[in-house]
Amino acid sequence: MLQQTTVSAVIPYYERWLKVFPDMRSLARAPLRRVLREWQGLGYYQRAGNLHRAAKIIEHEHGGRVPDNEPTLRRLPGFGPYTTAAVLSLAYGRPLPVVDANVRRVLMRVLGLRGAAEARIDESLGAFLETIFPKDSPGDFNQAMMELGALVCRSRNPQCLACPLRASCRAAREGTQEIIPRPRKLRLEKIEAVVAIMEKDGRFLIQKRPAGGLLADLWEFPGGKVEPGESLPAALRREVREELGVEIKDVRRLTTVRHAYTRFQVTLHAYTCKMRDSNFKMGSRRRWVTLSSIRRYPLPSGSVKIVDFLAVHKDTTG
Ligand code: SF4
Repeated sequence: MLQQTTVSAVIPYYERWLKVFPDMRSLARAPLRRVLREWQGLGYYQRAGNLHRAAKIIEHEHGGRVPDNEPTLRRLPGFGPYTTAAVLSLAYGRPLPVVDANVRRVLMRVLGLRGAAEARIDESLGAFLETIFPKDSPGDFNQAMMELGALVCRSRNPQCLACPLRASCRAAREGTQEIIPRPRKLRLEKIEAVVAIMEKDGRFLIQKRPAGGLLADLWEFPGGKVEPGESLPAALRREVREELGVEIKDVRRLTTVRHAYTRFQVTLHAYTCKMRDSNFKMGSRRRWVTLSSIRRYPLPSGSVKIVDFLAVHKDTTG
Protein backbone atom coordinates (compact mmCIF):
# COMPACT_ATOMS: atom_id res chain seq x y z
CA MET A 1 0.00 0.00 0.00
CA LEU A 2 2.82 2.37 0.80
CA GLN A 3 4.59 2.25 -2.53
CA GLN A 4 4.11 5.64 -4.26
CA THR A 5 1.72 6.72 -1.48
CA THR A 6 2.29 8.63 1.74
CA VAL A 7 1.76 7.01 5.13
CA SER A 8 -0.93 9.49 6.16
CA ALA A 9 -2.93 8.72 2.99
CA VAL A 10 -2.63 4.98 3.55
CA ILE A 11 -3.55 4.74 7.26
CA PRO A 12 -7.38 4.74 6.83
CA TYR A 13 -7.12 2.16 4.03
CA TYR A 14 -4.81 0.00 6.11
CA GLU A 15 -7.03 0.09 9.18
CA ARG A 16 -10.12 -0.75 7.17
CA TRP A 17 -8.21 -3.52 5.36
CA LEU A 18 -7.22 -5.18 8.64
CA LYS A 19 -10.80 -5.10 9.83
CA VAL A 20 -12.04 -6.81 6.67
CA PHE A 21 -9.04 -9.16 6.27
CA PRO A 22 -7.68 -9.69 9.79
CA ASP A 23 -5.53 -12.67 8.78
CA MET A 24 -4.05 -14.52 5.83
CA ARG A 25 -6.96 -16.94 5.63
CA SER A 26 -9.62 -14.25 5.31
CA LEU A 27 -7.66 -12.57 2.53
CA ALA A 28 -6.98 -15.86 0.72
CA ARG A 29 -10.65 -16.86 0.85
CA ALA A 30 -12.07 -13.51 -0.24
CA PRO A 31 -13.24 -13.14 -3.86
CA LEU A 32 -10.99 -10.91 -5.97
CA ARG A 33 -13.83 -8.42 -6.41
CA ARG A 34 -13.99 -7.83 -2.64
CA VAL A 35 -10.22 -7.42 -2.45
CA LEU A 36 -10.21 -4.87 -5.28
CA ARG A 37 -13.15 -3.08 -3.69
CA GLU A 38 -11.24 -2.65 -0.42
CA TRP A 39 -8.19 -1.46 -2.38
CA GLN A 40 -10.26 1.06 -4.35
CA GLY A 41 -8.71 4.53 -4.19
CA LEU A 42 -5.13 3.33 -3.67
CA GLY A 43 -4.50 2.86 -7.38
CA TYR A 44 -1.94 0.42 -8.80
CA TYR A 45 -4.52 -2.34 -8.60
CA GLN A 46 -2.10 -4.97 -9.83
CA ARG A 47 -0.62 -4.91 -6.33
CA ALA A 48 -3.93 -5.88 -4.77
CA GLY A 49 -4.21 -8.77 -7.24
CA ASN A 50 -0.66 -9.88 -6.44
CA LEU A 51 -1.28 -9.63 -2.71
CA HIS A 52 -4.42 -11.74 -3.07
CA ARG A 53 -2.67 -14.41 -5.15
CA ALA A 54 0.28 -14.43 -2.72
CA ALA A 55 -2.12 -14.89 0.23
CA LYS A 56 -3.71 -17.89 -1.51
CA ILE A 57 -0.32 -19.50 -2.09
CA ILE A 58 0.80 -18.80 1.50
CA GLU A 59 -2.44 -20.23 2.85
CA HIS A 60 -2.48 -23.36 0.68
CA GLU A 61 1.20 -24.17 0.29
CA HIS A 62 2.80 -22.76 3.45
CA GLY A 63 0.15 -23.36 6.11
CA GLY A 64 -0.75 -19.67 6.37
CA ARG A 65 2.75 -18.63 7.46
CA VAL A 66 4.75 -16.15 5.38
CA PRO A 67 7.89 -18.02 4.20
CA ASP A 68 11.11 -16.91 5.88
CA ASN A 69 13.56 -17.60 3.07
CA GLU A 70 14.45 -15.59 0.01
CA PRO A 71 13.97 -18.14 -2.82
CA THR A 72 10.45 -19.08 -1.65
CA LEU A 73 9.40 -15.48 -1.08
CA ARG A 74 10.71 -14.43 -4.49
CA ARG A 75 8.39 -16.92 -6.15
CA LEU A 76 5.32 -15.23 -4.64
CA PRO A 77 3.43 -12.78 -6.89
CA GLY A 78 4.59 -9.20 -6.33
CA PHE A 79 7.71 -10.13 -4.34
CA GLY A 80 10.67 -8.39 -5.98
CA PRO A 81 14.03 -7.73 -4.27
CA TYR A 82 12.65 -4.77 -2.28
CA THR A 83 9.57 -6.43 -0.80
CA THR A 84 11.49 -9.65 -0.13
CA ALA A 85 14.29 -7.85 1.73
CA ALA A 86 11.76 -5.73 3.65
CA VAL A 87 9.75 -8.76 4.82
CA LEU A 88 12.84 -10.79 5.74
CA SER A 89 14.56 -7.99 7.65
CA LEU A 90 11.49 -6.45 9.33
CA ALA A 91 9.58 -9.62 10.14
CA TYR A 92 12.37 -12.16 10.53
CA GLY A 93 15.42 -10.05 11.47
CA ARG A 94 17.48 -11.17 8.47
CA PRO A 95 20.48 -8.93 7.71
CA LEU A 96 19.32 -7.66 4.33
CA PRO A 97 19.50 -3.96 3.44
CA VAL A 98 16.42 -2.44 1.81
CA VAL A 99 16.66 0.22 -0.87
CA ASP A 100 13.43 2.02 -1.66
CA ALA A 101 12.97 5.49 -3.18
CA ASN A 102 13.50 7.19 0.20
CA VAL A 103 16.65 5.23 1.05
CA ARG A 104 17.97 5.76 -2.48
CA ARG A 105 17.63 9.53 -2.10
CA VAL A 106 19.30 9.59 1.34
CA LEU A 107 22.25 7.53 0.15
CA MET A 108 22.72 9.50 -3.05
CA ARG A 109 22.96 12.67 -0.98
CA VAL A 110 25.17 11.19 1.72
CA LEU A 111 27.55 9.87 -0.95
CA GLY A 112 27.19 12.94 -3.18
CA LEU A 113 26.08 10.88 -6.20
CA ARG A 114 24.75 13.17 -8.91
CA GLY A 115 22.26 12.18 -11.56
CA ALA A 116 18.75 10.79 -11.56
CA ALA A 117 17.49 8.44 -8.85
CA GLU A 118 17.18 5.24 -10.83
CA ALA A 119 16.72 1.70 -9.65
CA ARG A 120 19.79 0.60 -11.60
CA ILE A 121 22.06 2.14 -8.96
CA ASP A 122 20.40 0.11 -6.18
CA GLU A 123 22.91 -2.70 -6.44
CA SER A 124 25.86 -0.40 -5.71
CA LEU A 125 23.87 1.38 -2.97
CA GLY A 126 23.07 -2.01 -1.45
CA ALA A 127 26.78 -2.89 -1.56
CA PHE A 128 27.56 0.34 0.30
CA LEU A 129 24.86 -0.41 2.89
CA GLU A 130 26.44 -3.82 3.50
CA THR A 131 29.57 -2.03 4.76
CA ILE A 132 27.64 -0.10 7.45
CA PHE A 133 24.80 -2.50 8.12
CA PRO A 134 24.25 -3.44 11.80
CA LYS A 135 23.76 -7.22 11.75
CA ASP A 136 22.00 -7.26 15.14
CA SER A 137 19.11 -4.93 14.27
CA PRO A 138 18.53 -5.02 10.50
CA GLY A 139 14.79 -4.30 10.70
CA ASP A 140 15.30 -1.21 12.87
CA PHE A 141 18.06 0.04 10.62
CA ASN A 142 16.01 -0.41 7.45
CA GLN A 143 12.97 1.29 8.95
CA ALA A 144 15.12 4.12 10.29
CA MET A 145 16.58 4.74 6.83
CA MET A 146 13.14 4.71 5.21
CA GLU A 147 11.76 7.08 7.84
CA LEU A 148 14.76 9.38 7.54
CA GLY A 149 14.07 9.68 3.82
CA ALA A 150 10.33 10.18 4.31
CA LEU A 151 10.47 12.72 7.14
CA VAL A 152 13.89 14.44 7.17
CA CYS A 153 15.77 13.94 3.92
CA ARG A 154 12.67 14.77 1.88
CA SER A 155 12.92 15.27 -1.84
CA ARG A 156 12.10 18.96 -1.41
CA ASN A 157 13.25 20.99 1.59
CA PRO A 158 15.48 18.39 3.26
CA GLN A 159 15.82 19.17 6.98
CA CYS A 160 19.61 19.03 7.13
CA LEU A 161 19.89 20.92 10.40
CA ALA A 162 17.84 18.24 12.15
CA CYS A 163 19.49 15.31 10.38
CA PRO A 164 21.61 12.79 12.30
CA LEU A 165 23.67 12.10 9.16
CA ARG A 166 24.64 15.71 8.60
CA ALA A 167 28.25 15.37 9.73
CA SER A 168 28.90 12.62 7.20
CA CYS A 169 26.73 13.91 4.34
CA ARG A 170 28.58 15.06 1.25
CA ALA A 171 25.60 16.83 -0.30
CA ALA A 172 25.00 18.88 2.87
CA ARG A 173 28.69 19.75 2.97
CA GLU A 174 28.74 20.85 -0.68
CA GLY A 175 25.28 22.43 -0.66
CA THR A 176 24.00 20.11 -3.39
CA GLN A 177 21.15 18.47 -1.49
CA GLU A 178 18.50 20.26 -3.59
CA ILE A 179 19.92 19.04 -6.90
CA ILE A 180 20.65 15.47 -5.80
CA PRO A 181 18.99 13.45 -7.10
CA ARG A 182 18.35 15.32 -10.36
CA PRO A 183 14.65 16.28 -10.37
CA ARG A 184 12.65 14.11 -12.72
CA LYS A 185 10.43 15.63 -15.35
CA LEU A 186 7.14 13.91 -14.87
CA ARG A 187 5.33 13.66 -18.17
CA LEU A 188 1.65 13.01 -17.73
CA GLU A 189 -0.09 11.61 -20.74
CA LYS A 190 -3.43 13.30 -21.33
CA ILE A 191 -6.33 11.09 -22.31
CA GLU A 192 -9.85 12.05 -23.40
CA ALA A 193 -12.38 9.31 -22.91
CA VAL A 194 -16.14 8.87 -23.21
CA VAL A 195 -18.44 6.62 -21.21
CA ALA A 196 -22.02 5.56 -21.80
CA ILE A 197 -24.41 5.70 -18.86
CA MET A 198 -27.23 3.35 -19.84
CA GLU A 199 -30.13 2.88 -17.50
CA LYS A 200 -32.88 0.30 -17.61
CA ASP A 201 -35.52 -0.03 -14.88
CA GLY A 202 -33.37 1.84 -12.38
CA ARG A 203 -30.26 -0.24 -13.14
CA PHE A 204 -27.08 0.84 -14.86
CA LEU A 205 -24.92 -1.21 -17.21
CA ILE A 206 -21.36 -1.82 -16.01
CA GLN A 207 -18.74 -4.22 -17.29
CA LYS A 208 -15.58 -5.80 -16.01
CA ARG A 209 -12.26 -4.81 -17.51
CA PRO A 210 -10.08 -7.62 -18.88
CA ALA A 211 -7.67 -9.43 -16.57
CA GLY A 212 -4.12 -8.13 -17.01
CA GLY A 213 -3.10 -4.61 -17.95
CA LEU A 214 -4.10 -1.32 -16.37
CA LEU A 215 -7.07 -1.35 -13.99
CA ALA A 216 -7.41 -5.10 -14.56
CA ASP A 217 -10.60 -6.72 -13.23
CA LEU A 218 -12.12 -3.40 -12.18
CA TRP A 219 -15.67 -2.55 -13.25
CA GLU A 220 -16.66 0.50 -15.25
CA PHE A 221 -19.25 1.98 -17.58
CA PRO A 222 -18.85 1.05 -21.26
CA GLY A 223 -16.69 3.46 -23.23
CA GLY A 224 -13.11 4.24 -24.10
CA LYS A 225 -10.57 6.63 -25.53
CA VAL A 226 -11.46 9.35 -28.03
CA GLU A 227 -9.45 8.95 -31.26
CA PRO A 228 -7.59 11.99 -32.69
CA GLY A 229 -9.99 14.20 -34.68
CA GLU A 230 -13.06 12.36 -33.42
CA SER A 231 -16.00 14.20 -31.83
CA LEU A 232 -17.10 13.03 -28.38
CA PRO A 233 -20.52 11.68 -29.50
CA ALA A 234 -18.87 9.90 -32.45
CA ALA A 235 -16.32 8.34 -30.09
CA LEU A 236 -19.15 7.22 -27.81
CA ARG A 237 -21.06 5.60 -30.69
CA ARG A 238 -17.92 3.83 -31.93
CA GLU A 239 -16.90 2.58 -28.46
CA VAL A 240 -20.36 1.26 -27.66
CA ARG A 241 -20.60 -0.40 -31.08
CA GLU A 242 -17.16 -2.03 -30.62
CA GLU A 243 -17.74 -3.10 -27.02
CA LEU A 244 -21.43 -4.00 -26.91
CA GLY A 245 -22.27 -4.52 -30.58
CA VAL A 246 -25.20 -2.08 -30.50
CA GLU A 247 -26.10 1.35 -31.85
CA ILE A 248 -27.25 4.06 -29.43
CA LYS A 249 -29.86 6.85 -29.45
CA ASP A 250 -30.96 9.73 -27.21
CA VAL A 251 -27.36 10.71 -26.49
CA ARG A 252 -27.22 13.46 -23.86
CA ARG A 253 -24.20 14.93 -22.18
CA LEU A 254 -24.22 14.18 -18.46
CA THR A 255 -21.00 15.39 -16.85
CA THR A 256 -17.22 15.56 -17.22
CA VAL A 257 -14.84 14.39 -14.52
CA ARG A 258 -11.07 14.37 -14.30
CA HIS A 259 -8.80 11.96 -12.56
CA ALA A 260 -5.21 10.83 -12.69
CA TYR A 261 -3.69 7.39 -12.32
CA THR A 262 -0.13 6.16 -12.82
CA ARG A 263 1.11 8.48 -15.58
CA PHE A 264 -2.25 9.30 -17.12
CA GLN A 265 -4.40 12.36 -16.70
CA VAL A 266 -7.87 11.40 -17.84
CA THR A 267 -10.79 13.61 -18.78
CA LEU A 268 -13.87 11.45 -18.73
CA HIS A 269 -16.97 12.67 -20.59
CA ALA A 270 -20.09 10.86 -19.46
CA TYR A 271 -23.21 10.67 -21.66
CA THR A 272 -26.57 9.12 -20.97
CA CYS A 273 -27.93 7.12 -23.89
CA LYS A 274 -30.17 4.22 -24.82
CA MET A 275 -29.64 1.15 -26.98
CA ARG A 276 -31.23 1.52 -30.40
CA ASP A 277 -31.53 -2.20 -31.17
CA SER A 278 -31.87 -5.47 -29.33
CA ASN A 279 -28.68 -7.20 -30.48
CA PHE A 280 -27.16 -6.71 -27.07
CA LYS A 281 -25.69 -9.79 -25.42
CA MET A 282 -24.98 -9.66 -21.72
CA GLY A 283 -22.13 -12.16 -21.35
CA SER A 284 -20.52 -12.96 -18.01
CA ARG A 285 -18.55 -9.74 -17.64
CA ARG A 286 -21.56 -7.37 -17.67
CA ARG A 287 -24.20 -6.53 -15.11
CA TRP A 288 -27.22 -4.26 -14.75
CA VAL A 289 -26.92 -2.89 -11.21
CA THR A 290 -28.70 -0.33 -9.08
CA LEU A 291 -26.88 2.82 -8.14
CA SER A 292 -26.43 1.70 -4.55
CA SER A 293 -25.12 -1.74 -5.48
CA ILE A 294 -22.61 -0.29 -7.97
CA ARG A 295 -20.63 0.76 -4.93
CA ARG A 296 -20.04 -2.88 -4.02
CA TYR A 297 -18.00 -3.26 -7.20
CA PRO A 298 -14.35 -2.16 -7.43
CA LEU A 299 -14.35 0.91 -9.71
CA PRO A 300 -11.59 3.20 -11.01
CA SER A 301 -11.76 6.61 -9.32
CA GLY A 302 -13.13 8.31 -12.49
CA SER A 303 -16.12 5.96 -12.43
CA VAL A 304 -16.60 6.60 -8.70
CA LYS A 305 -16.90 10.32 -9.47
CA ILE A 306 -19.57 9.61 -12.08
CA VAL A 307 -21.47 7.38 -9.63
CA ASP A 308 -21.28 10.20 -7.06
CA PHE A 309 -22.67 12.59 -9.68
CA LEU A 310 -25.49 10.16 -10.53
CA ALA A 311 -26.34 9.75 -6.86
CA VAL A 312 -26.70 13.50 -6.40
CA HIS A 313 -28.59 14.04 -9.65
CA LYS A 314 -30.52 10.78 -9.85
CA ASP A 315 -33.84 12.49 -10.29
CA THR A 316 -32.68 14.53 -13.27
CA THR A 317 -30.66 12.05 -15.35
CA GLY A 318 -33.41 9.73 -16.61
FE1 SF4 B 1 19.63 14.46 3.61
FE2 SF4 B 1 20.51 16.79 4.56
FE3 SF4 B 1 20.59 14.59 6.05
FE4 SF4 B 1 22.23 14.87 3.98
S1 SF4 B 1 22.16 16.11 5.84
S2 SF4 B 1 21.08 13.03 4.53
S3 SF4 B 1 20.90 15.94 2.55
S4 SF4 B 1 18.74 15.64 5.30
